[in-house]
This record gives sequence, C-alpha cells and structure tokens, in this order.
Amino acid sequence: MTQTFSAQNGSRTLVLLKPDAVERGLTGAILDRYLTKGLRLAALELRHVNQALASAHYSEHVGRDYYPTLIDFITSGPVVAMVLEGERAIDIVRLMNGATDSATAAPGTIRGDFSIYYQRNIVHASDSPQTAAREIGIWFPNL
Ligand code: ADP
Ligand code: MG
Repeated sequence: MTQTFSAQNGSRTLVLLKPDAVERGLTGAILDRYLTKGLRLAALELRHVNQALASAHYSEHVGRDYYPTLIDFITSGPVVAMVLEGERAIDIVRLMNGATDSATAAPGTIRGDFSIYYQRNIVHASDSPQTAAREIGIWFPNL
C-alpha cells in the first residue's frame, strides 16, 4: 500500500506542553502518548515564552476576556514546543488532547486525564492546516 504524505495535507502540527505540564513533570508521559500513537517528532525544544512570542501565538484571541490571563499563563514558565508529523496529525492530536475545558474533556484524553481546568489545560495543538502553517512558522521558522 502506498502512503501519501505531504505538509499540505496537514501532516504537521504545532504542539505545546504548557507551563503546567512542564512544571508537574508530565513532559515524558505526554510525549510518550504521541509517539506511541505513531506520530513522529519533526522538532522539539524547551522554550521560555516572552510577550512577543505569546501575543504572536495567541493573536486570534486578542480582546477576549480570558486573553490577559492566557498570556500571563503561557509566559509563566517554560513550555515544551514540538512539531509532530504523520498522516492526519492535526486531527489526531486534537482528538488525543480532548476538549478545551479539561473539566469536560473525556477520560482517556490528555486534558481529561491530567487537568480539571479550562485555562491550565496542559496542551496546545494547531486546529487546521492553515493554523499549523502559521504556528510552525512562529515557533520553528527554520523548519
Ligand atoms: P484550544 O486550545 O482547544 O484550541 P482555543 O483556541 O479556543 O482552545 O483557546 C485557546 C486557549 O485559551 C485554551 O486552550 C484555553 O486555555 C484558553 N481559553 C479559551 N477559552 C477560554 C475560556 N472561555 N475561559 C478560559 N480559558 C479559555
Ligand atoms: Mg486553539
């Protein structure tokens, strides 16, 4: 069987392990889930997020009531930024991460298993091929 594979098909996605995940020592456990699933690492780096990076990443949320605390949180400690790749990686990672509000995220998902909060919700992942291209460009411009 031939497998088709191209970045234009949404085969790469930007994933962040947010400060709560890193601080709680969940980096290995979460990374293990993605890699065991069959996704591959295209990039991985521990990053300290400054205001410029935070506001570029979350530009679509400017003006929302939760925006100030969103920026405060993502700049509060190191994150693990990565690019995962594989067939349908964008949809697969969103499914594995679970619903945005961890309180309602299904058990078995990363948010459902590791958090009870809406904001301190462990992970970020791109939600479309367009978003993935934009976010990978922000976090890993040389990739
Ligand atoms: P996702 O991370 O699932 O793609 P969004 O892009 O809608 O979710 O929002 C980005 C982040 O902003 C969420 O992960 C969450 O931490 C926070 N957020 C979004 N909506 C709310 C809200 N209503 N209350 C608190 N935090 C929110
Ligand atoms: Mg989002």
